[in-house]
Amino acid sequence: MVERIHFVPLGLANSDGVPPLELVVRLAAEAARLLGASCHVDPSPLDVTFSYDELRRQVWSTPVLARLASRPHPPGAVVVGVTSLDLFVPVFTFVFGEAQVAGPAAVISQHRLREEYYGLPPNPGLLLERLLKELLHELGHTQGLRHCADWRCVMSSAHTVERIDVRQAAFCADCARFLHNRSRG
Ligand SMILES: [Zn+2]
Ligand SMILES: [Zn+2]
Repeated sequence: MVERIHFVPLGLANSDGVPPLELVVRLAAEAARLLGASCHVDPSPLDVTFSYDELRRQVWSTPVLARLASRPHPPGAVVVGVTSLDLFVPVFTFVFGEAQVAGPAAVISQHRLREEYYGLPPNPGLLLERLLKELLHELGHTQGLRHCADWRCVMSSAHTVERIDVRQAAFCADCARFLHNRSRG
């Protein structure tokens, strides 16, 4: 569905919120395996201080998408920002991620995907699985998909980690058909 993914770590000017490079590399490897996409990880983080809200202590994700989309990237590639900072859009208290619908940019946060956020012991395997599902979800949006009513589908909307966990790391038959038809033009 996506042939090329360019991963960019995001953080503040003081490096706060930059995700561990190893985590981004593992996510890229999983995406390459699952989607057969050519994945590249940018080793130098992008400073998103311009979109940081001091009062909310969160990053407004929409301007970050515009910044990512304006970076030079090959045609057909999707640029995915990955951060440990908490993300928001003004109508929601937080978002796990955001993407441009039928556009080249997406952003995902590991902040609320970590078990530690809920006072539980770290679970690196579960974190990677949740990140991968969030990645697939946002990639689906970049390919023009909207939210899906099938709660097992990775395109179903989720505002809790429990809802992410019941999703499969896969598109339902309808969403898969949409992506297939789109990629055939
Ligand atoms: Zn969505
Ligand atoms: Zn679906």
